[in-house]
Amino acid sequence: MTHQVCLLSGDGIGPEITNAVREIIAAAGVGIEWIPCAAGLSSYEKHGDPLPQETLDNIRQTKLALKGPLATASGTGFRSVNVSLRKELQLYANYRPAKTLKGVPAPFEDVDLIVVRENTEGLYSGLEHTVVPGVVESLRVVTETGSRRIAKFAFETARSLGRKKVTCIHKANILKLSDGLFLKTCGEVAQDYPDVEYDECIVDAAAMKMVMNPHQFDVLVMENLFGDILSDLASGLVGGLGVTPSGNLGEDAAVFEAVHGTAPDIAGKNLANPTALLLSGTMMLKHMGETEAAKKIEASLFSVLEEGKTLTGDMKGTASTTEFADAIIAKLDSVS
Ligand code: NAD
Repeated sequence: MTHQVCLLSGDGIGPEITNAVREIIAAAGVGIEWIPCAAGLSSYEKHGDPLPQETLDNIRQTKLALKGPLATASGTGFRSVNVSLRKELQLYANYRPAKTLKGVPAPFEDVDLIVVRENTEGLYSGLEHTVVPGVVESLRVVTETGSRRIAKFAFETARSLGRKKVTCIHKANILKLSDGLFLKTCGEVAQDYPDVEYDECIVDAAAMKMVMNPHQFDVLVMENLFGDILSDLASGLVGGLGVTPSGNLGEDAAVFEAVHGTAPDIAGKNLANPTALLLSGTMMLKHMGETEAAKKIEASLFSVLEEGKTLTGDMKGTASTTEFADAIIAKLDSVS
């Protein structure tokens, strides 16, 4: 069977790591017709639009996309394509596992967390304006519907993966209305899942607890800004952004992406680590029902990482992107 998947190669190191991932997936025997889609700075320079309508239409049609990092200017320029994609396609759930990988240096052992971030509301609603010169406002929108669906997603995820606990991360002591609504709704949804333990933690305390003892957490659910920050913190616990995958899921489409940026300092040099995008790719394969191939790729990757002979520079090795990808491909037939 051949699957159709949109491919947003992205900017900077995007084309190098997406090529590596495509080759590994093909070598694992999964038939994919990749539909190239323009997005990001390269699309803006070529088409005058960082997120052309055709790209959105293609993703709506295939319902699936693999995406490299996209360059976004800070403070000025076009609106973040990542944020626009999530809003346009209503990819309301950002799913970010952070799991220790043998062979990848990290400050802790045996970390295994999942951060579930609300992806369409909160401070990233894009509602900013100047009140008077020198005074600006950003609106933090929280809805009961949005809170309920992300809470349900977190509990369904926990249940389907046999996880024990969901923790709602919030700041309802200060943001009494907005996070108050989020917290109240999470608590209500928790009552429908008596088999999953539920607790609550204020965001600043949660940040401290995660770096003191990450093992006390299991699945964490939170609104957009807190999720943006704490999901990167969770990545730091297991070796950084170069090794953590992510999925953006909605009712009608799913976009899988690496969480790191375009790494302009090493772009075009065949030095980038494709691990994060590869793990996002295996997450995508599982979502598509290609679980066996996904497990085979992960086993090859973990074996290469653990062996430690062929690693990219960010993992203290000397291998190029293509050498690292070839080492994973070479192991595909020998792993079970
Ligand atoms: P970055 O993640 O691109 O780079 C930070 C550091 O990590 C750099 O030293 C880089 O070389 C290294 N790095 C990142 N990914 C790597 C990889 N796969 N292999 C090896 N090293 C890697 O962050 P930045 O410099 O803050 O951002 C650069 C651009 O990326 C900005 O335009 C930003 O908006 C964009 N960005 C996009 C996304 C996304 O599309 N999801 C996420 C974050 C940043």
